Amino acid sequence: MDLLASQEGSTATILIVEDSATQALLLQSLLEGNNYRVAVAGNGLEALEYLDDHAPDLIISDIIMPQMDGYELCHRINLAEHLKDIPIIMVTAMSEKEKLQLAFAAGAMDFIAKPVDRTELFARVRSLLKLKYEMDRRKAREQELLEVTKQLQEANLMLQRLSELDGLTNIANRRCFDVYLDQEWRRATRTGSQLSMLMIDIDYFKLYNDTYGHQAGDECLRNVATALNHTLKRGGDFAARYGGEEFAIILPETDIAGAVFLAQTIRTKVEELKITHASSEVSDQVTVSIGAASVVPEKNLTNAILVTTADQALYQAKRNGRNQVRWTLM
Ligand code: GH3
Ligand code: MG
Ligand code: MG
Ligand code: MG
Repeated sequence: MDLLASQEGSTATILIVEDSATQALLLQSLLEGNNYRVAVAGNGLEALEYLDDHAPDLIISDIIMPQMDGYELCHRINLAEHLKDIPIIMVTAMSEKEKLQLAFAAGAMDFIAKPVDRTELFARVRSLLKLKYEMDRRKAREQELLEVTKQLQEANLMLQRLSELDGLTNIANRRCFDVYLDQEWRRATRTGSQLSMLMIDIDYFKLYNDTYGHQAGDECLRNVATALNHTLKRGGDFAARYGGEEFAIILPETDIAGAVFLAQTIRTKVEELKITHASSEVSDQVTVSIGAASVVPEKNLTNAILVTTADQALYQAKRNGRNQVRWTLM
């Protein structure tokens, strides 16, 4: 914005394209007398060379010139994305007026008749510079809007991710679990494949909190969650925090033997974390009990059956002494 403000002073740069040295000098002295910065090119080609590394605010161009005339120059400028917003004024003798039609068609925005009248020149220059600044300002605003839109999209994505993740453990939350189970249940129904689930519960976790404090409990939950996530190898396998100190894992296209095998791996992995748990009645370290269940979904079943069955197996693992895997066949 500051840049635009400074452009709006009388420090605008104007490129004069004119093959007659006298005519060029006349325009130059008039414009410089009014505090514009001026550059001069002798024909269209020279003008394009100058435009390679300069961005003037306005171009005042003769029509008839050697090597490249004013029409061709307009045409080339109009085709160049970075130049097409620079307004062009054509300078022409009265007798050449019919040629103006062609100049406008090529992209010129206005014209000044020869011999140049200074009042007319400044009026045209001022109005086209004003237009140029308005366009620049609008472009800057559009750019800003694009930026803001992009930031908003990123924020939305972040929010969506947050709403799917459990804040403490950073793995999927219960809501996300429900959606995923539903999706995989319907997929397995379509394909007739086996769907398995593990329900995992930390043993004597209340005692862990009581012994080491709630913050240590939180840290323990995070470590167990990470261990679970690292155990999963297949793309479709999915771990979530089901609630409190319980985790659930969905295993698409996995039979009960595969599910039990993975459950044993997880149980060992948690033991290997070697998180001291002095008040546990089953071990010196934090351990988990796991219930496994497996089903080929049918039309008359709902996915709740899988959760209930895994839960029943978990209950058996607890009753049987904890730190072990149990499974129920359906
Ligand atoms: P069991 O072996 O039968 O599973 O015994 P348990 O003590 O693990 O089971 P219980 O259901 O009695 O206790 C679960 C504990 O988990 C109680 C609760 O304070 C703790 N807990 C649940 N959510 C969190 C949490 O987010 N952070 C912490 N630190 N503790 C939690
Ligand atoms: Mg000429
Ligand atoms: Mg529990
Ligand atoms: Mg527990």
